[in-house]
Amino acid sequence: MFLYNTATHHKDEFLPQNPKQVTMYCCGPTVYNYAHIGNLRTYIFEDLLARTIRLHYPLKHVMNVTDVGHLVSDQDDGEDKMEVGAAREGKSAWDIAKFYEEKFWADFDALNCTRPTVISRATQHIKEMIALVKTLEEKGYTYRTSDGIYYDTSKFDRYDALVGHARISGLQGGARVEMSDEKRNPTDFALWKFSPKDKKRQMEWDSPWGVGFPGWHIECSAMAMKYLGHTLDIHCGGIDHVTIHHTNEIAQSEAATGQKYVNYWVHGEFLILRSGKMSKSGGTFVTLATLKEKGYDPLAYRYLCLTAHYRTQLEFTFESLDAAAKSLENLRALSRGVLAQAQGKEADCQAWKDKFAAAMEDDLNAPKALAVVWEGVRSADMNAEQKLSFLRFADSILALDLFKEKKEEPLALPQEVQTLLEERARARAAKDYKKSDELRDAIAKLGYVVKDTPKGQQAEKKL
Ligand code: AMP
Ligand code: ZN
Repeated sequence: MFLYNTATHHKDEFLPQNPKQVTMYCCGPTVYNYAHIGNLRTYIFEDLLARTIRLHYPLKHVMNVTDVGHLVSDQDDGEDKMEVGAAREGKSAWDIAKFYEEKFWADFDALNCTRPTVISRATQHIKEMIALVKTLEEKGYTYRTSDGIYYDTSKFDRYDALVGHARISGLQGGARVEMSDEKRNPTDFALWKFSPKDKKRQMEWDSPWGVGFPGWHIECSAMAMKYLGHTLDIHCGGIDHVTIHHTNEIAQSEAATGQKYVNYWVHGEFLILRSGKMSKSGGTFVTLATLKEKGYDPLAYRYLCLTAHYRTQLEFTFESLDAAAKSLENLRALSRGVLAQAQGKEADCQAWKDKFAAAMEDDLNAPKALAVVWEGVRSADMNAEQKLSFLRFADSILALDLFKEKKEEPLALPQEVQTLLEERARARAAKDYKKSDELRDAIAKLGYVVKDTPKGQQAEKKL
């Protein structure tokens, strides 16, 4: 298997440290808002990688959930995203994290992404993060300012290694942080931030340096090394993480352990909109729920992602999603036909499986693998039993539910209606019928009728 390694700027043969267990860490979601379909593209590519590795090796796949400490700006100032979400929605920071994490896993499952072996929440690993900062302090890599403990990047001579290669490949250099008065170097970053003196934070912990919360970068290093050891086989994430987040992870981890942190850095390119970057703040924010509301099968989006190589940008349009949905349905119709014809029996078709696997093992060439599937399903070379075996094998990687029956699924409710229904259920549980009626009217204004049934509330679109 060959993988493009951001660190070597080269497609390298993948050689695990221990073939009995490959180790892989993927940066997970920051759970202060819904994931957008750009984020989800990255998890789909990581799932393809996990499934392809599992053809040959057992895999330990760790993913974090950032439920604290990711600041709204890279300048190490601004608020923590979780506290911002809490203020926005009038909930506690803990509730925000729980709510959006649940939504995240629902999207992840709907896209047939395989759940990681270990899911690690930042708030449950504060002890490990403090221990790592202490090690860095003992080794002389840290300094204190009025708002936190910082990493001195000038002390780590390989600091620019990952970025240097990224720059060669034409990526934008990361937004280098503004030089604040107290920072020694513009690239220095916070390991531990102190709680503000004038305000009580909802999420804060004691530490040897004072009450506060961890920096975002230290979270991934601490959790990755706790579960996977000092040197990981693979570390993944979106391309935006190369210049700052992963560069900082390397600096912290290698300074602390004196060992190489990651053998293969694998980064996925962005999903973009014609109007530019998909962003949570710029109003250009498409979620999987939006696609479901419009009647799309989430796996049509997975199919769309498979049509582009993970290292190329993919522009999202509803026209291309329509085309993907149509192709998926055609492929499913052919697959169902094969299943019926083969009467569930399989026969050997190793050459075709090898051809498919070779495409995936060549730096996850999913578009090519998909082309092999189309070629195979229509080929006169295989009988129905062989085709069935081949399609089942391909679907164990592509995960498109190729044998799924076509059925008209009821349209998902718009998020706004869903939220009002949840609020109404709470009002009814509290016997606040006045509020419950008001919410029924608010839902009606959005074009939905609510019925109270023995199974609970049901909302239907008004005819
Ligand atoms: P976040 O929740 O913002 O930390 O991002 C989760 C993952 O999505 C990270 O691996 C990001 O690099 C990735 N990501 C963010 N925006 C996009 C995008 N537009 N396209 C693809 N991946 C993205
Ligand atoms: Zn990370």
